[in-house]
Amino acid sequence: MISDAVIDRIASREVAAFRKANLISLELGCQAAANWFQGVPFHWMLDWPSPVPLVAAGAKGAMLMTVDGRTLDDFCLGDTASMFGHSPAPLAEALAKQAGEGLSYMLPTEKGVELGGMLAAMFGLPRWQVTTTASEANRAVIRWCRGITGRNKILIFNGCYHGAVDDVFVDLRAHPSGWEATMRASLIGQVHDILPTTSVIEFNDIDALERELKRGDIACVLAEPVMTNVGMVRDAPGYLEALRRLCSETDTILVFDETHTISSGYGGHSNAYGPKPDMMVIGKSIGGGVPTAVYGFSEEIAERMAKLNASRPSGHSGIGTTLSANALAISAMHAMVGKVITHEAYRHMLALAQRLVKGIEGIIAAHQLPWHVVNVGARVEFVCAEKPSTNGSEARAAMHPRLEAAIHLYLANRGILLAPFHNMMLLSPATQEGQVDRLVHVLNDAVTEFLE
Ligand code: PMP
Repeated sequence: MISDAVIDRIASREVAAFRKANLISLELGCQAAANWFQGVPFHWMLDWPSPVPLVAAGAKGAMLMTVDGRTLDDFCLGDTASMFGHSPAPLAEALAKQAGEGLSYMLPTEKGVELGGMLAAMFGLPRWQVTTTASEANRAVIRWCRGITGRNKILIFNGCYHGAVDDVFVDLRAHPSGWEATMRASLIGQVHDILPTTSVIEFNDIDALERELKRGDIACVLAEPVMTNVGMVRDAPGYLEALRRLCSETDTILVFDETHTISSGYGGHSNAYGPKPDMMVIGKSIGGGVPTAVYGFSEEIAERMAKLNASRPSGHSGIGTTLSANALAISAMHAMVGKVITHEAYRHMLALAQRLVKGIEGIIAAHQLPWHVVNVGARVEFVCAEKPSTNGSEARAAMHPRLEAAIHLYLANRGILLAPFHNMMLLSPATQEGQVDRLVHVLNDAVTEFLE
C-alpha cells in the first residue's frame, strides 16, 4: 500500500528539513567527531533515524529540550530508563542531597535497609541484591542459577534481548531442515561458542518448552513475560502458566526480566497478571535514570544461594562491580520506589495508554491500514503488519525498517520523539493528554502523506 518510492521521497525531504531545523546539533555533531568515535560518546546514539542525533539540552517530565531551542514530546523516555518522567522532583531532591554526602562508600546505608523492605512490598519477592545495570543483573542471575542447580544450560526465547549478556545472544535461523540455533551475527569480538550452553526456542511454543525442560539440564529460563525487544509479542493465553508449571516440575528456575515490563502495572507484569517467577530483574527506570538495577528472589532460592556461598572458597565470585549498590544508587531507588512509582502514577499512565491505543486504532481504521496496535499497561506499539506476532520470528518478519525510520523522522521533525529500533511509545506519569492527542494527530498526517 505504501510504496518504497514514496517512503524514499518523504524520507529525503525529512532529512533536509531536519538539517535546516537542527543547525546547532549538526555543528556539535561535527565538533564531537574530532574526539568521540563516530561523533558520539556511546555508539547506540547513532541508532536514531536522523542524520545526526539531536543534542539534548535537558528534559523535564515528558518533554525533551534540544540545543536548537526545540521542545519535543518524549515518548521514548530514554528507552524506559525515564519511564516515570525525566527528573521527578523526589528523585532530583534525593540526588541533590546525596551529592553532598558522598556517593560511593562500599558500605550499606540506612536508606538501603528501608529500600529492601520497599522492594519486597512492591514486587512480592522477599530477598534482593543490587547491580549497576540490568545487563549486569541478568549476568549475575545466570551465574547464581547455574551455581545453585549445577546445570550448565539456560533457556531463552528467539528474538529476546536482556542486555550485554553473552549467554543470551542466540537466535533461531531458518535452515533447509527446519530451524537452527545460531549466534547473533552482529556481535563484536565474540570468541566463545555459546551454543552448547544456551538453548533457544520460540515464545508461546509449549511443545518446545516441554521438550527442552523435561531433559532436566536447564538451570533457568530467562524471559520477559511479554517480549518487548522484537516489537512486542504477547503471551498466548495460558502460556506463562504453562511456563511456570513446567519450571516447577523440572526444578528449573524461572527468571522474569521485568526491566521493560515494569510498565505493565504496579509491581511489574508478574504482579499485575501473574504468574510469580522465582527470580526477577528490574533495571533502568528503578533508578529513574541513575545507573542501577536490582534482582529479587524467593526465600528458597536465597537458601540455595547461601548454601552455595558457604561451600565455595573465598575470593572472587564473578558477580558485582565496585559501584554496585553505592549510596547514589540506593538514594535514587529509595526515592523512585518510595515516592514516584506509585499506584496513582500507574492509573494515569494506563489511562493515557488507552487513549493512545484508541487514537492509533482510529487512524488504522480510517485509512484501512494493514497495521495493528499492541499494548500492555503503559507500553504501546504500532506494528506495520496486519496480524499480531506470536513469536520472535514472526515479529522480525513484521518489521518494516525503512518505513518506520521515515515515520520516526517525520514525527521528530514535528516535535515528537519515539524510541529508535521499533514503534514503541511509553506513557509516563508526567505525560499529558494533549501530548498523546498531538502524537495521534501528527501520526495521522504522516500516514495521510505516505498513502498519497
Ligand atoms: N533487559 C531488558 C528486557 C532490556 O530491554 C534491556 C535493555 N534494553 C536490558 C535488560 C539491559 O539494560 P541495560 O542496558 O540498562 O543494562
